[in-house]
Amino acid sequence: MSQTSAAAKFVTDQPQDYRNYINGAFVENGSSMIDVLNPATGAFLGRIPETGADQVDAAVKAARAAQGPWEKLPAIERANYLRQISAKLRENRVELADMIVREQGKVRGLAQVEVDFTADYIDYMAEWARRIEGEVLTSDRPNETMLLLRKPLGVVAGVLPWNFPFFLIARKMAPALVTGNTIVIKPSEETPLNAYMFTELLAQTDLPKGVFNLVGGRGREAGEALISHPGIDLITFTGSVATGSHIMQVAGKNLTKVNLELGGKAPAIVLNDADLDLAATAIHASRVINTGQVCNCAERVYVQRGAHDALVAKLTGLFNDTRFGDPSVDDDLHMGPLVNQAGLDKVADAVDLAREQGATVVTGGARADLGQGWHYQPTLITGATADMDIMRHETFGPVLPIQIVDSLDEAIALANDSDYGLTSSVYTSNLNAAMQAARELKFGETYINRENFEAMQGFHAGRRKSGIGGADGKHGLYEFTTTHVVYIKG
Ligand code: NAD
Repeated sequence: MSQTSAAAKFVTDQPQDYRNYINGAFVENGSSMIDVLNPATGAFLGRIPETGADQVDAAVKAARAAQGPWEKLPAIERANYLRQISAKLRENRVELADMIVREQGKVRGLAQVEVDFTADYIDYMAEWARRIEGEVLTSDRPNETMLLLRKPLGVVAGVLPWNFPFFLIARKMAPALVTGNTIVIKPSEETPLNAYMFTELLAQTDLPKGVFNLVGGRGREAGEALISHPGIDLITFTGSVATGSHIMQVAGKNLTKVNLELGGKAPAIVLNDADLDLAATAIHASRVINTGQVCNCAERVYVQRGAHDALVAKLTGLFNDTRFGDPSVDDDLHMGPLVNQAGLDKVADAVDLAREQGATVVTGGARADLGQGWHYQPTLITGATADMDIMRHETFGPVLPIQIVDSLDEAIALANDSDYGLTSSVYTSNLNAAMQAARELKFGETYINRENFEAMQGFHAGRRKSGIGGADGKHGLYEFTTTHVVYIKG
């Protein structure tokens, strides 16, 4: 059993100093600490280390030392360790969700979904243990057998964002570990405390030391030290396009493989024959879930002219009825705050610019003065056009711009004319229109007559600047492997 700082139930409402987890032990950090705040109130929640290059190096070396023995274990044994971790998460599901509510500002119901989905995801990846397959190839030579083996890459660096901070640990860790890699995780400095809680639970399992390591800190310090480390075999990153692009450049120096899950500007296409109640409900949910801070959710609408007025009327009602506030004291909310001051300013600036460029704010359109925290009103915008910034750049807030189109062809052309290519959605009762959209939309995912939410057995992957590679399912699992072809003569 590994050393742990918290075998007992968590105390999540008392600020604490958290420690990095390296080589199976929680280690003291010699350098400075970073404060973590509740975005709904500004309250101080705890501190994490600003990890320097020395501890990052120690974490990578620990992961390297552990990787050989870990790879030699039968995959089913590796999976059994994963199941120990998911069981610990389930035992502590309420405390974990509570921390996500308080440090990220997520509403409680969604935070609970995130924790439960994370445990399920780890079990799902554990199930792959008996299904990791190679191939037997046909040789050109007599008496020769060719085998294509599938093997782990080695040491993985997982760099995480703040918007689904808990789930993203599992999305990196579970496929990495079941395929025989070891990992060093760096959570976002905005929302790291749930990752430290995850690690405290993991430390209560029998997982061998060095297989999972956690280092906290900012991108420019700990993050930079991790992505530039020559001992890393794969950098799997989820975050902004700017950081993803930077990571790819840095990775080029060591020729480290990258897997990049980046931003989105998901289009929702609503045709005249759509079920408008369904479309309005799903699109409104897309904008308020996690306060609009979700990479795959609809951020721009193309509605066919005949459906425009009815759709706007329904959406106006839904936006006006949106309950928002501090989710740590109110369980009956649609949304909480933006993650920080910079996130709030970005949303406010985007709406101001949309107004200047000629769009109409139907409802919302201002910062919400709740006396504390970083809140913005749910905002519906009409009269948007393709050249406006609000239709081109990721807003990452509770803001929905709508543009009128005359045909499905026009909608598809506008949807595809974007730097982003993560997800898209279509609302129609016409099967031919749905099939045309499926053929012609250039995105990693398309949701037809349903909300944007991917399944763990799918493949979550972006085109264009939304990323390289993907996550989930068989294809996501194999991103953590390399091939080895063996020729056996005789
Ligand atoms: P971000 O790029 O600011 O930060 C992400 C992580 O990168 C953090 O841990 C940060 O510390 C680290 N980082 C920053 N600079 C670094 C550097 N120089 N070297 C190494 N690491 C560095 O992103 P964010 O604001 O945390 O997340 C929001 C973004 O993530 C949005 O654009 C959203 O669309 C995207 N996102 C995408 C997906 C997806 O699956 N495609 C999922 C969730 C979020």
